[in-house]
Amino acid sequence: MKILVINAGSSSLKYQLMDPESGDVFAKGLCERIGIDGRLTHKAPAKDVKVVREIPMPTHAEAISAVLEILVDPVNGVVASVDEIDAVGHRVVHGGMKFAESCLIDEACLEAVRACIPLGPLHNPANLLGIEACQKIMPKTPQVAVFDTAYHMTMPPKAYRYAIPDEYYEKDSLRRYGFHGTSHRYIAKRVEALMGKGLKVINCHLGNGSSLAAILDGKCQDTSMGLSPLCGVPMGTRVGDIDTTVAQYICKNYNKSMDEVMNILNKKSGVFGLSGGVSSDFRDLEAAAAAGNEKAQLALDKFAYEVKKYIGAYAAALGGLDVLVFTAGVGENGVLMRSMICEGLEFLGVKLDQEKNKLRGDERIISADDSKVKIWVIPTNEELMIAQDTAELAK
Ligand code: ADP
Repeated sequence: MKILVINAGSSSLKYQLMDPESGDVFAKGLCERIGIDGRLTHKAPAKDVKVVREIPMPTHAEAISAVLEILVDPVNGVVASVDEIDAVGHRVVHGGMKFAESCLIDEACLEAVRACIPLGPLHNPANLLGIEACQKIMPKTPQVAVFDTAYHMTMPPKAYRYAIPDEYYEKDSLRRYGFHGTSHRYIAKRVEALMGKGLKVINCHLGNGSSLAAILDGKCQDTSMGLSPLCGVPMGTRVGDIDTTVAQYICKNYNKSMDEVMNILNKKSGVFGLSGGVSSDFRDLEAAAAAGNEKAQLALDKFAYEVKKYIGAYAAALGGLDVLVFTAGVGENGVLMRSMICEGLEFLGVKLDQEKNKLRGDERIISADDSKVKIWVIPTNEELMIAQDTAELAK
């Protein structure tokens, strides 16, 4: 089978054409600057193809058209006709309480995704644009929605409820949802394949956006992001957990609207804000800290400290810990950050092997042989999960 995986953002759209069984990627790429001008970057690994093209993309429809055109292009493409694409899987960020699993897209599913816009106002509208564009251009091809929130639907109420007046939950569904669910689910499955069932696992998905999940026997028990991806550990530019009074203070004393404050907390905070604007990229922060920049060092220390605290909290929530996993950009590549996070966790049975830890992007154990808790680096593969769900539902 050939499944097209689409991840549509407000001005960008990532795609992969892949085999859901082998995981082979036939082609992948990125449309950028949608609604501004438009640029397509396309790669076909087996043909050693990499092309970058300026293509007008006033809307997501032109972006999808450009993707389909290059996929069938005799020189740069990988299929003879669009009919070879069996189904399309779409990443959808917020599934609210409606979706505990992926869903074959029909009008009822689309209606439910639209109903989640108030919960995911920054992401769902863009995801919908991607779906609608594909439906228009490939009306006969099955489309599937795969939700970032779905995997976390197994959390118990004590984990997902906020201690706010009950009516906001009952009427408005305000609660913890959690994100990166497709990545956490992929890791839970990999851990089961590598180590067996019934395990207490903490997965640290550390990238530009970061979240942790406490997993028991493959099922999510708790996760660090909430109603939106803003909370939990500090991130590239997102603040993470914070006393909400800070928002009120900035609002009042800097004469800003709530939207402006939310923008500050989403786009200008995190390690970027804490470092005094050095960078949201951990490589830049490490370089700056090594060169003596104290604010960059503080940003790294704060990040490691908060991740460490979540690991402690989730070990308590799970009543123990068998496996600690690092994944995503920083988790897979951040040798220094992994070491900073694990330092001092020996009391929990977490003992890193500093030599084994010197790896980037491979699936491997990095704990010492006598570590009670097995520490793994497992590269995540959200696209493969989306492709597999899509193939299953499109059958
Ligand atoms: P996103 O959340 O956007 O998907 P990624 O999971 O791709 O992000 O992670 C991107 C982050 O990974 C970058 O901000 C970068 O700091 C970090 N990263 C990539 N390579 C390294 C490295 N070698 N060392 C430390 N951090 C790295």
